[in-house]
Amino acid sequence: MAEKKKGGLKELSPITIYKSLPKINCKECGVDNCMAFATKIVNREVELDSCKPLLKPENAKSYAILKELLKPAVKEVIVGIGDKAKKIGGKLVMYRHEFTYKNPTAIAIDVTDEMPEQEIVTRVQKTENFTFEYIGNTLKLDMVAVRCTSEDPEKFKAAVKKVSETTKLPMILCTLNPAIAEVGLMAAPKARPLLYAANATNWKDMAELAMMYDCPLVASSPNDLTTLVSIAKTLMVYGVKDIVLDPGTFINEGLPDTINNFTMLRRAATKGGDELAGLPLLGVPMVAWMDKGDTADDLIKWREAYVASMLIVRYADVLIMHGNDGWALLPTTVLRQNIYTDPRKPVAVAPGLKVYGTPDENSPVMFTTNFALTYYTVASDIESNKLNAYLIVVETEGSAIDSGVAGRKLTAERVADAIKASGIESKVKHRKLIIPGKASRISGEIEELSGWKVLVGPRDSSEIPKYLIEKWQP
Ligand code: SF4
Repeated sequence: MAEKKKGGLKELSPITIYKSLPKINCKECGVDNCMAFATKIVNREVELDSCKPLLKPENAKSYAILKELLKPAVKEVIVGIGDKAKKIGGKLVMYRHEFTYKNPTAIAIDVTDEMPEQEIVTRVQKTENFTFEYIGNTLKLDMVAVRCTSEDPEKFKAAVKKVSETTKLPMILCTLNPAIAEVGLMAAPKARPLLYAANATNWKDMAELAMMYDCPLVASSPNDLTTLVSIAKTLMVYGVKDIVLDPGTFINEGLPDTINNFTMLRRAATKGGDELAGLPLLGVPMVAWMDKGDTADDLIKWREAYVASMLIVRYADVLIMHGNDGWALLPTTVLRQNIYTDPRKPVAVAPGLKVYGTPDENSPVMFTTNFALTYYTVASDIESNKLNAYLIVVETEGSAIDSGVAGRKLTAERVADAIKASGIESKVKHRKLIIPGKASRISGEIEELSGWKVLVGPRDSSEIPKYLIEKWQP
């Protein structure tokens, strides 16, 4: 009997998976037995390939059955090779509350073959070196798009070569001219770039190249979904294995159509089980730079950033961008991080005692909650001011201070228990605890239960350094 579908996600039971596993309980997968592995598979906590016995030739049929059962609504496509290869697509659901989104939108920054060599190198290095620490995660960029704007095969070849010598990040090779595309592929023949793009005119030559160089291919038909799906079907039948869809990106009055097209494709894939729509989607926010006229660069960068943000929310699996300023990329990458976390689980850090600088027995002791955003904000304010201090992170199931107090996740009992469990009593000789200003309501209870004297600190952690200078006395 076919498995039920809930919002595009197959409702698989562990027993369905178990039936096709080797059932030898060998623990090679790191799980106690095959049934436990089946449960983890259903919850998408492990990869099927971590069951090594299943990969043996005699289990090929079972492996194929399981692969089909676990097939995502949107096919997963790999761009690039080695450590930096990027998986795009692989989505199981339309909405993130149904199941955590997989494979965060890959962001590519472009270079063109008309840029001077040094500019290409500088832009690629800037793309590779972009990092930002955000609530315990390192935000990064993913790819380099090499665009042929010269229509000169030699220039394109030189640009692709320079990029591939400068970085191992995956590339997107952008040209509609198959002859130029081939020259670009020859310059990096084993790099498995994403080839952009096949359209209604050039699809056959592009398909030949994609198959010859074993690379994924973008099917493109701006604002014409019927033709787009038809090209994708033709490419599939022709033998292209990995296809990405470009439904077109438009700004200003074209933006609603853009968002509609992305949404319709993803809905057809996840809710309707349409295999042709079930392919990764590519957006091109850098169209904001086309025909910019006299518009100021900063305004264009802002437009590009908001189009990118809208496409991240509305199902884009890969984006091509031009602006590479940190201020414009930061909101885009932070939004991406937030969209691709599990909305059912608060973002939390491990509770316990954190030590900053070289504190001694007279150093201040503070506490905060284990909500990641709160913790990293407080930690950053302590670290950047080079304070010597202890911070007790209290388990609040990922609640912030004020919501934790209101929702009884941050209680005096929990604070008192955290003080005991942290071992702080053997590290300092005083018994004074600075609590966040937003937890002042429970200050009396904390004193009563912990036996520590409570000092109500600032409501905003940026004021901790000033508070300590003015008020702290062990
Ligand atoms: S590795 Fe495979 S066969 Fe062995 S216990 Fe895990 S699921 Fe079962």
